[in-house]
Amino acid sequence: MGTLIRKFNWLETELGHPLNWSPVLKTSVNILLNSRFPMFLFWGENLNCFYNDSYRPSLGIQGKHPGILGLPAKEAWKESWKDINPLIQEVLNGHQANWKEDQLIPIYRNGAMELAYWTFSYSPVHDEYGQPCAIFVTCMETTEKVLAGQAIVEKTLEMAQINRKLSESNEMFNLINQEVKSKNQELTQINQELLQTKENLEKSLQAVFETEARFRSMIHDSPIAMLVNRGEDLVFEEINDSMLRMIGKDISVKGKKILDVLPELEGQPILKTLYKTFQTGETIQKLEEPIWINREGKKYQGYFNLTYSPLRENGIVTGILQSAVDVTEMVLARKKIEQVEAFTRLSIQSANLGTYQFDMENAELIVSDRTRIILGFHAEDFITFDNVWSQVSEKYKKEVRDAISKTISTRERFILDFSIQGFRDKKMKWVRAYGGIYQDQKGQFSQFYGVIQDITESITINQKFKESQENLQLMADNVSQLIWMADETGHRIWFNKRWEEYTGADVKTLSGYGYSKLYHPDYSERVLEKWKMHVQTGEIWEDTYPLLGKDGEYKWFLSRAIPLKNAQGKVLRWFGTNTDITREREILQEKDDFISIASHELKTPVTSLWASLQLLDEIKEEPFTPLIPKLISYATQSGKKITQLIEDLLDTSRLNEGQILLKKSNFDIMRVLEQCCIDFQISSDFFLTYKGLRSLEVYADETRIEQVIVNFLNNVKKYAANTQQAYIHLEKEGKFAKISIEDLGPGIDEEKVPNLFHKYYRTESSGARFSGLGLGLYINAEIIKKHGGKIGVESKKGKGSKFWFTLPLAEPILN
Ligand code: ADP
Repeated sequence: MGTLIRKFNWLETELGHPLNWSPVLKTSVNILLNSRFPMFLFWGENLNCFYNDSYRPSLGIQGKHPGILGLPAKEAWKESWKDINPLIQEVLNGHQANWKEDQLIPIYRNGAMELAYWTFSYSPVHDEYGQPCAIFVTCMETTEKVLAGQAIVEKTLEMAQINRKLSESNEMFNLINQEVKSKNQELTQINQELLQTKENLEKSLQAVFETEARFRSMIHDSPIAMLVNRGEDLVFEEINDSMLRMIGKDISVKGKKILDVLPELEGQPILKTLYKTFQTGETIQKLEEPIWINREGKKYQGYFNLTYSPLRENGIVTGILQSAVDVTEMVLARKKIEQVEAFTRLSIQSANLGTYQFDMENAELIVSDRTRIILGFHAEDFITFDNVWSQVSEKYKKEVRDAISKTISTRERFILDFSIQGFRDKKMKWVRAYGGIYQDQKGQFSQFYGVIQDITESITINQKFKESQENLQLMADNVSQLIWMADETGHRIWFNKRWEEYTGADVKTLSGYGYSKLYHPDYSERVLEKWKMHVQTGEIWEDTYPLLGKDGEYKWFLSRAIPLKNAQGKVLRWFGTNTDITREREILQEKDDFISIASHELKTPVTSLWASLQLLDEIKEEPFTPLIPKLISYATQSGKKITQLIEDLLDTSRLNEGQILLKKSNFDIMRVLEQCCIDFQISSDFFLTYKGLRSLEVYADETRIEQVIVNFLNNVKKYAANTQQAYIHLEKEGKFAKISIEDLGPGIDEEKVPNLFHKYYRTESSGARFSGLGLGLYINAEIIKKHGGKIGVESKKGKGSKFWFTLPLAEPILN
């Protein structure tokens, strides 16, 4: 290389002629050429290249040698310039020498680009001023070493790979080995299991037998009716006693088809359900299924809860397990409750009842539409308890409050009638409230439930009925008759007050046949016998008999009873009356007496008249004798008597019929008195004395008053015949004239005085001794009463009688 460097034309380079080279350059080239270590030098600004012989092999054949000598580095190392330039610049910039080992730097040599590895050092060459001016490169190609190393690495890697694969294969082998082991274990296990399974199978089979036995015994022991049917015809395979009882059969049904045992199932829906279970394998449950069966010849209609479960063999349905519970009683009871509920609802509706519910806890009142109407609320009104409470009449508020409180404390129900005022129309109404307190779902007694009824109409009717009943009772108690009621057996059950008043016995004593003890013993048997006969025949009963009064006296009663019958003619009640007919019987008696008296009274003058007329007839042809005028006088007197008697009878009859008319006028009563007294004195031996006023005008019927005075005077003549003194007394008493006619005769018993002016009344003593009809005083009394006057008598037995009467004074006098 020394030769090449010397021969090289350095003038064409920036370095110029070697003679002009700097000593540093010369020294550096010298070191380079003398070194046996491959070296390279980049010199100068352009980094012109120098290298030694040791370096040449690295440049290869047909490569950079010798071309790159003297060339600037950039040109010489085009292919690796980007790798080496940074290293060169780093050194030139004053940094220390750098070192690279086995650096890959491609090189063009041997006619191609080769990848070469280099270990090198770039160190600075300083000029005489100490500035870096060139790079000394000590370098050694390590391509072979590197490649050899790489080959080792690759081999190692390959080995490692192989190792890894081996190890993996080993693992796999281990795994396979393990698997084989475990398969082996498994097989052993399976073998064991197979043995176990065989054992289990045998046990299962045993269990199946046991299960089937248990199944059968379960069916037989079950309190629930159970039945197993097999095959399409549903043959009875197993059946327990409960089921046999239910269908009313015995064990002989086993092995028979269902329709042979229970032909009545034909047509009933339950048979279809059975077939459905058999065909589809579905478990079917039926609740409260109505079925009828022929149980020992009787049709039994019941309700059953049924379960039909399919029985399978190898997955195929071959039978049905039936279980049945007879719930007929429960269903009927529930239906009854439902019926009662429906009936209650219907009753509430048809009775026009309103319902209400009051929640005391929330003070919430819920009412039905009917209640709303009863209380007088409109549909849109909001009802509160306070609203309703305000409707209750003040009079009943306490009663209502007490009833509610009692119900709350005792839980007893209440029924209460009270009046309210209609909420809107303010009309007075009567309601009947039924209420009770009930346990709510929380178990608290805070719910009031009830119904309400408008009873206004019935209360009104009741009131009217009560009133009419009271009136009836009042009437019954106040009529003069004794009224009674008897039941259909003839036992008396009710008496009016008059009974107690008359008999002095209370209702209890009189009830039944108790009253009959008061019958007169002579009549009792006959009357009761007749009554009992009528009770049997149901015919109207009538009888008369004496009944004992509390005064110990018997009075005659007319007893009548009318039966009240039903539509079938059966007697339900007897309504009876006892009428006191004592007076009527007396009147009848009086009439009988009167007829006898009247006949007798008339007979006497008629006989006398006839006798006189007969005698006159006998002597009518004979010459006149003094007997003739006497007989004529007798006949005339008898005729007068007869006329008088007939006149009295006619007057009585006229008075009865109200036919006596008065012709009133003013006249002096004294004048009429004197006139009558003259006739009286002529026909008797009496001496009359006038007392009091001598004249007084009255307003009356003169003829009738004359009749009255004559009647009194005739009685004096008749009853006080043994005396000869009588008194006429005229006085003024207020607006009346009082006329008294007094005799000194036998007088009259005090107790008989009240009867004196009655029709036909005659004192006993007079009846026998004196003729008369007992009509005179009666006629007098009637005439005076018609004048507006009064009539009376003051008499004492043995002390004479003073008959008196008054007449209104004449009007002019009054004026
Ligand atoms: P008669 O005289 O026809 O019986 P009266 O009616 O005139 O009927 O009298 C009724 C009865 O009153 C008489 O039967 C008699 O007993 C009684 N009586 C009437 N006047 C007298 C009298 N002056 N003195 C006593 N008794 C009298």
